[in-house]
Amino acid sequence: MKIMKFGGTSVGKPERMHQVSQLITKGDEPKIVVLSALSGTTNALVGISNLLAQSDRGGAKQSIDQLELHYRGFVDQLAQTDTGKAKANAIVSEHFEFLNIILRISFSEALNKDILAQGELLSTKLFCVFLEEQGIDHVLLPALDFMTIDINEEPQLGSIKIKLSQILKQFNDKKLFVTQGYICRNARGEVDNLKRGGSDYTASLIAAAIKATVCEIWTDIDGMHNNDPRIVKKTVPIKQISFDEAAELAYFGAKILHPTCIWPAQQTNVPVKLLNTMQPEAEGTVITEDAGSVGVKAVAAKDGITAIKIKSSRMLLAYGFLRKVFEVFEKYRTSIDMITTSEVAVSVTIDNDTHLAEIVKELQPFGAVDVDDNQSIISIVGNEIAQTDQVLQRLFESIAEIPVRMVSYGGSPHNISLLVHSDHKVKTLQLLNVGLFGLE
Ligand code: ADP
Ligand code: ASP
Ligand code: MG
Repeated sequence: MKIMKFGGTSVGKPERMHQVSQLITKGDEPKIVVLSALSGTTNALVGISNLLAQSDRGGAKQSIDQLELHYRGFVDQLAQTDTGKAKANAIVSEHFEFLNIILRISFSEALNKDILAQGELLSTKLFCVFLEEQGIDHVLLPALDFMTIDINEEPQLGSIKIKLSQILKQFNDKKLFVTQGYICRNARGEVDNLKRGGSDYTASLIAAAIKATVCEIWTDIDGMHNNDPRIVKKTVPIKQISFDEAAELAYFGAKILHPTCIWPAQQTNVPVKLLNTMQPEAEGTVITEDAGSVGVKAVAAKDGITAIKIKSSRMLLAYGFLRKVFEVFEKYRTSIDMITTSEVAVSVTIDNDTHLAEIVKELQPFGAVDVDDNQSIISIVGNEIAQTDQVLQRLFESIAEIPVRMVSYGGSPHNISLLVHSDHKVKTLQLLNVGLFGLE
């Protein structure tokens, strides 16, 4: 069985959904199709939720009505028959009635998650109406029946595996399943999600749970590129990368993949393919244990980073000191991405500043604490990159004009990371494109 995940732009227009129906009906192999919300929907739902959190019911109502209008237009073009149109409109009515009811309830975090779930619930149900109209036999598997996260918001792969196999057993004779990406249930049994971009994570978790032959991530670009195509003009797709390389790129900002979506596939050794819905014949990128080649593969950037420096006048790196520093971050469940030390100071970076004030307060007894926000991590990723000839020389020569705040080298054989002020991110990515890849 294989997994085919289609992102927001792949289902964002009626004609794209038609195209998806063709892609999923090719070949005899049974498939589980994972769909995101239509592009723009989750952003709109986040907006509605924020307005409700600020008690702006009028603003929220306006956004709900605007979104409903978009869906009415969408279903009119999606469905081909009167019966199909009626069914699709009934689905739209059901979900927008729900959103309108929410307007009258006092806002809570649980309600926020319910609002965010509407996008994937709508896209999958509407797609199934279209499949039914086309006479394409399929089963809709509600993700909320099997996709769960624990108290630490970590997916429960063992439990997902058991629940999903029990569900699939009931449909032995079926070959096509459709389910929602992104949404799940939390430890309290409430509707929750796998964070923004989480449909990739859903696909990889399902692939691991059923030990799929392949996990295909269909999107709007022909695979993982060597640099961020939103920022750099000339970028090229990478044919093959390893799980480790892909995980580093995803974690350090390559938006094409959810930051932590690689581990389930890697753990079960299911190959992941990145493919283009708009150009299905393109080769794309294949991600397996084998990296294919040695050397620099790609660069990526992650914004919203805060650097914290703790400088001690006493003998800073006496043993036990780093443990005490790390314990503060552990206490506030804040993970550290980069770390550098000198004789008298240690600098770390975090991407979650929810508990920054408490962390700084608890670090102050250890020495002077400096905080720099608005930083970006630039990651240079490639198999055995740290051992590849002249990479460091080319790297630093190409970005000579950029003030670099931190450097991390040697922690992983696949990654060299730099910390720069976010104002320098675009220039750094452009210079690296020339210096490391010979591309303008
Ligand atoms: P989907 O909605 O299908 O999940 P995303 O928008 O999440 O799609 O991811 C695809 C986008 O990721 C591309 O359109 C591209 O702009 C962006 N992107 C960022 N970095 C990279 C990269 N290194 N390679 C390919 N795409 C990238
Ligand atoms: N719809 C969700 C989002 O926009 C999940 C996804 O698209 O992967 O973040
Ligand atoms: Mg995505």
